[in-house]
Amino acid sequence: MSVPVRPAIAELAAYKPGRSAADLARELGLPEAIKLASNEIAYPPLPSVVAAIAEAACVVNRYPDNASVALTAALAERFELPVESIAVGCGSVSLCQQLLQSYSGPGDEVVCAWRSFEAYPLLVAVAGATLVPVPLREQTHDPEAMAAAITDATRVVFICNPNNPTGTALGTVAMQRLLDAIGTDTLVVIDEAYREFVTDPDVPDGRELMRGRPNVCVLRTFSKAYGLAGLRVGYLLSQDPAIATAVRKTYVPFSVSTLAQVAALASLSAEQEMRERCAAVVSERERVSAALADLGDPAPVSQANFVWLPLGEDALGFASFCEARGVIVRPFAGDGARVTIGQPQENDAFISAVAAWEASRG
Ligand SMILES: *Cc1c(COP(=O)(O)O)cnc(C)c1O
Repeated sequence: MSVPVRPAIAELAAYKPGRSAADLARELGLPEAIKLASNEIAYPPLPSVVAAIAEAACVVNRYPDNASVALTAALAERFELPVESIAVGCGSVSLCQQLLQSYSGPGDEVVCAWRSFEAYPLLVAVAGATLVPVPLREQTHDPEAMAAAITDATRVVFICNPNNPTGTALGTVAMQRLLDAIGTDTLVVIDEAYREFVTDPDVPDGRELMRGRPNVCVLRTFSKAYGLAGLRVGYLLSQDPAIATAVRKTYVPFSVSTLAQVAALASLSAEQEMRERCAAVVSERERVSAALADLGDPAPVSQANFVWLPLGEDALGFASFCEARGVIVRPFAGDGARVTIGQPQENDAFISAVAAWEASRG
């Protein structure tokens, strides 16, 4: 008999790795397959960032700076916040886990929209807390239903804006109303992993919502717009330094590597290049969205670097159909498929797959 695992963990499904582009290409006998499944940016890191990583490679016999002092200072300057209001983590997923460990435990409830970021339910279970999922309405957060789901047991509320995987974003008024409906003793986490791709001026910046609301914090990441998904670094911004302090207490020591710290620092000084890349992604997002609408498969308006096809029961079939044509998308069984915006020719391959899918169905 195996050693008993904590029941909350035993119930979790074991991690199943997604299809790799290399494996699929080999199977199909293609020179390469296209991976549009993980919301990565389709451009390699900037030369200045690669140079910083290469230089830092020479000192990896040393432990990283456990407090990410230089990176924290640079973020403080960039966002005009005291360093005490900032926490750096091994990806913003890690910061989600730290927030949950610092603020919730057995008997506590955590509210989030559903469907939303896949990591939330997992991390809530790991913290031993209880997830309270609130169904999306028309593919977007339902602020009234979320407010109504909050009880005396609610310790944390996640708001993913724009939402992964639907790409939809709440506007300023809806967001303010939701925040006003949440008691000040409940932590609100606004997950803005895709903030740099937002173009709708009505979608509020979490940093502004945080002002005057000491129970609100914002998560951002270097994984998406900055193109450092493979290095693992994200950050938390809070109005009340107590949140950043609590999060630093559940940090796994040294988990943000030296390479991640220097790459993030170098990326912050290449802001202009990052903006240009985001603009290119946004223009492709608009092109892909228009093509999907033309094909009769309209996606909800996306403010992120991906689009969502609400295909319901066809989601898995659609994903296999795309895979057979060398395009890997991310299906959620019974719900829909999320497709990352890639380089123009990759997006063309995806659009052709949708056209063929529509044709195959008459
Ligand atoms: C991709 C993503 C993150 C970022 O994860 P990292 O750990 O920083 O790579 C966080 N939240 C959401 C909603 C995401 O989609």
